[in-house]
Amino acid sequence: MSSQGSRSSILIIYTGGTIGMKTDENTGALVPFDFSGIYEEFPAVRRLKVDIGVHTMPKLIDSSNVRPSDWCAIAEVIQANYEKYDGFVVLHGTDTMSYTASALSFMLENLAKPVIFTGSQIPIGMLRTDGRENLITAIEIAGAREAGRPIVPEVALLFHSRLCRGNRTRKSSAEELDAFSSPNYPSLAEVGVNITYNRAAIAPYEPDAGPLQIATMMSEGVAIIKLFPGIGEYTLRAILSVDGLRGVVLETYGAGNAPTAGWFLDLMHETVERGVLVVNVTQCDNGSVAMQLYETGQRLRSAGVLSAYDMTTEAAITKLMYVLGKNLSLEQSKELMQKPLRGEFTL
Ligand code: ASP
Repeated sequence: MSSQGSRSSILIIYTGGTIGMKTDENTGALVPFDFSGIYEEFPAVRRLKVDIGVHTMPKLIDSSNVRPSDWCAIAEVIQANYEKYDGFVVLHGTDTMSYTASALSFMLENLAKPVIFTGSQIPIGMLRTDGRENLITAIEIAGAREAGRPIVPEVALLFHSRLCRGNRTRKSSAEELDAFSSPNYPSLAEVGVNITYNRAAIAPYEPDAGPLQIATMMSEGVAIIKLFPGIGEYTLRAILSVDGLRGVVLETYGAGNAPTAGWFLDLMHETVERGVLVVNVTQCDNGSVAMQLYETGQRLRSAGVLSAYDMTTEAAITKLMYVLGKNLSLEQSKELMQKPLRGEFTL
C-alpha cells in the first residue's frame, strides 16, 4: 500500500472514544462504528488522493482508561506498519488525547512521517457530529506530501480548525467543538476553506536521522502535584516519600513560584537529594516558568528543582516517564529533561 504516483497511503488506528460511536438503528443505543466501512459511510473520502487502511485496536476504550501499555500498543502498530504507509491517523477519545499524543511524540524516535491524532466531541454517527470533518481533515493532512516529502513529519493533533504539535496541546473545553488549545506554540496549520500550513512551526523532515525506533519503557514512578495555598506538610511529605517515586511534576504559581516556608523548601531539597527529578510547570494557562524572577522561584531552583519552561503538564509527565524509562544516570536524565527533544518547550 505504499504511495504510488501522487497517491498517499495512510493507516487509521482506531482506539475508541466518542468519535467511534454510532447510533444502532434498531435499538437507538450508541455502539462502536466500524471504520473498515469508511468508504461506504463517507463516500467523500474517495475523493482524497489517499489509500486508507484501518487497524482497530483489540479493545476499544474510553480514553479515561488509557494506560502506558496502550501507548506502547499504538507505537507498536505504527512501527509494524511504518514502511507500508505514508502517514497515520490515530482516532482517540478526547479526554486524554493530549497525554497520548505527548507520550507518542517521545516514544516514536526518529519519526519522519505524520502521526495525526483526532477525535470528536459528538459521536460520528450523530447528525451534528464534528467527527466527520475532523476525520477527513486528519486523513488529508496525514497524506499531504510535497516534492515527495510529508508536510507534517511529526506527532500532531487535529481538532476543529487547527492542527497543533501534539505535545503542546491540552483539552481546554468539555463543551466547545473547538476543544483543544496549544497555549505556547503556534498552530502547525489552520483549517478553513483551505488547509494553510505554518511551515516555520512544523518540525523539519529528517529521514536520515535513523530508522524509526520505539521506546516502550515508560516509568510509572511519577506523580503530578498541584500546589495550593494551605497545602499541608504531612500530605506533601506522604506523597513525596512514596516507595518507587522517581519523578514529580510540580505545578507551581505564575512564573514558577512556590512557598518559601522552611518545611517546604527542606522537603523539596530532601526529595531532590534522594534522586527524584522534580520538574516545575506553571499552573497558568500560558507563559513560561522563569525561576530567576522572584525569590520564591529562586529558592526552588536552589533546592534543585528543574524548570519545565513552557511545557504543558501533559508533556512534562509523559516526558518524565519516557526519560526515566531509559534508566540513565541521574545527570543524563536531568540533561534530557532540560533540553527540548521534540519541540515540547521553548527555551
Ligand atoms: N470520554 C471520551 C473519551 O475520552 C470522550 C471523548 O472521546 O470525547 O474517550
